[in-house]
Amino acid sequence: MIAHALPVLPCGCGRAGCTETLLSAPGLARIAQHVTGQTYAPEDVIAGRNTDAGLQKAWAIWLDLACDFLITLCFTIDPAVIVIGGGLSNAPNLGDDLTRALHAATLKDFAVPPIRLAQGGDASGARGAAYAAWRDGLV
Ligand SMILES: [Zn+2]
Repeated sequence: MIAHALPVLPCGCGRAGCTETLLSAPGLARIAQHVTGQTYAPEDVIAGRNTDAGLQKAWAIWLDLACDFLITLCFTIDPAVIVIGGGLSNAPNLGDDLTRALHAATLKDFAVPPIRLAQGGDASGARGAAYAAWRDGLV
């Protein structure tokens, strides 16, 4: 966030500056607004990420932040696979864009795990919350 002079935003969890505030679909729209000064829906940022200069910059920042986050995860837990869910998992070629960006950003000779999309797609978070509530006997 500091590298891109992005604002530290309040998060739904009650804290501020959580990764979720920028790496979620609404977070991508916030980055685009920060870069362009205009308001976009996340799907409009995705649609214009290869054609509009401002949205290309917003997408590049999002990929940079995502790579920082994922590389930290890889160095910490060495996952065999990275599974992407949530609203942005519907973005065409997301896995390809992230894989390319990860290969460019990581240390030489450090393997990048394959990136797959969650079976639950953009409903993965809701499904996970429902599962946790069921598991804990809350429903
Ligand atoms: Zn949070």
